[in-house]
Amino acid sequence: MNNPLWSYYVRMCVLLILTHLLVGCATPTKSSKTAITPPPIAKFTGLQIEQGPSSLGAEPRKEKITHLILHYTAGTLPSSLDILQGKDPAHKVGIHYVITDEPTPRVIRMVPETMAAFHAGKSGWSELNALNQRSVGIEIVNLDGNVHPYSAAQAEVVFTLCTDIIRRNDIRPNNVLGHSDIAVGRKIDPGSLFPWAKLASLGIGAWPLPEEVKANLSKNKSATPAELRQLLEIYGYHLEPGEPGLKLGIEAFQRHFRPSKVTGIADAETLAILRSLVRRYRSEELRRARLPKV
Ligand SMILES: [Zn+2]
Repeated sequence: MNNPLWSYYVRMCVLLILTHLLVGCATPTKSSKTAITPPPIAKFTGLQIEQGPSSLGAEPRKEKITHLILHYTAGTLPSSLDILQGKDPAHKVGIHYVITDEPTPRVIRMVPETMAAFHAGKSGWSELNALNQRSVGIEIVNLDGNVHPYSAAQAEVVFTLCTDIIRRNDIRPNNVLGHSDIAVGRKIDPGSLFPWAKLASLGIGAWPLPEEVKANLSKNKSATPAELRQLLEIYGYHLEPGEPGLKLGIEAFQRHFRPSKVTGIADAETLAILRSLVRRYRSEELRRARLPKV
């Protein structure tokens, strides 16, 4: 059939189908754009944050947020919420978020992130001292995270909240820290049972590359106490002078990165992990310190 009207009709149909296909092709480009966003938040959307009682231990924020600090409360939920209101003028404390220990843990906000909360105390990391102005703090309800494991449900909420804070504030992995990292010898929270490794596997915080640790172990390179101190300090730890200061620094490091044995003794594995972390996250500082290759 060679009807001109019919052939016009056929041509229009083909054009319509092609247009539809082209529009359809545009979708993958769009979705590949969204695929660039790290996956965790998409997996755990719907983070509910409740407004709790306010902490008095807070002040206007004057610095950009660059660090995220994790704590355990060392108390039950009611006592923690009471203490964290910071009503005692002699001991003003405050925190941005509390994660409860209920079967379905809740996130309670006590200080908005636009304010600096008094959670770090005397603290230091890398070139910074007193981290309250530069950090967001999370308290997790646990009596002692060196003795009592965190529940899987709590770990999931920690992950969701951290992901959100890190993304909004563009916090570097090696600036996601425990209170024990920034207050060496004074604090031991969030403890050796805090799921750092699990969180790192999901993209939260710093972690050494396993193949590098293995390679370092096979080289079995030792370090003098002075070299060890220098490596810990390059990574960020603030250490008191002398052998006791170094031992406490190694303990803090192990509590975070080698929690199976917190001894304060830099064995081969501890050293291998430390070298790998310094190389991965502090290579520029290492170069400036003119240390031999780690
Ligand atoms: Zn703490």
